Amino acid sequence: MSLAIPEDEVVETAETDETVAVPEMPEDTFSGTRDEFSDYVLTADGAKFYYELDGERRSIVIPYLEIHTYMTVTESGNVVAEGIRELDPNKPMIAMTFDDGPHFEQTPRLLEALEKNGARATFFVLGDRVLWGPSNEKALKMIYESGNEVASHTYSHKDLKTLSAEKITEEIVKTRNAIYSVIGEYPTLVRPPYGNYDDEVKAYSYAPLITWNLDSKDWSFRNAEKIVEKVLAEVKDGRIILMHDIYQSTVDAAEILMQELTSQGYQFVTVQELFYYKNVEPENGVVYHGGYN
Ligand code: ZN
Repeated sequence: MSLAIPEDEVVETAETDETVAVPEMPEDTFSGTRDEFSDYVLTADGAKFYYELDGERRSIVIPYLEIHTYMTVTESGNVVAEGIRELDPNKPMIAMTFDDGPHFEQTPRLLEALEKNGARATFFVLGDRVLWGPSNEKALKMIYESGNEVASHTYSHKDLKTLSAEKITEEIVKTRNAIYSVIGEYPTLVRPPYGNYDDEVKAYSYAPLITWNLDSKDWSFRNAEKIVEKVLAEVKDGRIILMHDIYQSTVDAAEILMQELTSQGYQFVTVQELFYYKNVEPENGVVYHGGYN
């Protein structure tokens, strides 16, 4: 889960219970995994979470009425991270991922199809496409507001392996800023163009690197039937599927796949959801091909 703590929020230290201001943080949020926020008590004023920051044990009380802005607590009592739906962990899950957008026409079409099928996906967007014009910015906002996952595919789709550390950093930072300028949030995952990486790319992406373990070949087929056939032949619980929301045939194929595979019990999830339910804790500089290691 992710706890976004406003800078002016007041916290109490565990030992003395006296109130202190939250220390300055590099960004205005402090986030962590379920495990880091698993230590809490329910008090009269709200849920009191204990956590570690800069080696110090701290706590914060979140009033019950505000808890929904930080997280979702499911009926079964599990604390689910922000942006993660309550899904059936015993049913198979797949993450469709869409690269190279946003696309002013195809992205909204795809979002509508996802919504209709109760599905979600991850969009690895290009920084320069995000800033291409108002209709692309609108498409990115729609991805974000519909609960789908926004992730980075770098700024200008260069093969990062051919770039200097400085240029890799520039591709990453410019994309982070482009995305932030439109949706007010930074992406956490990066997909290197062409799935190409080396040690330098891993180090200077400052993020978990996400590739795939099922290539729909949509970029080469440009034919919905062939895309569907390839995915159905290789689909398997935990797979991350490479697709591109810039082709009409891809969106057509995604619609067919959602209908077909939902009826087979598959749940269409974001990469973040896939990792959450498959107990993968993504780390910066590590490459992930699927929801199992
Ligand atoms: Zn790409």
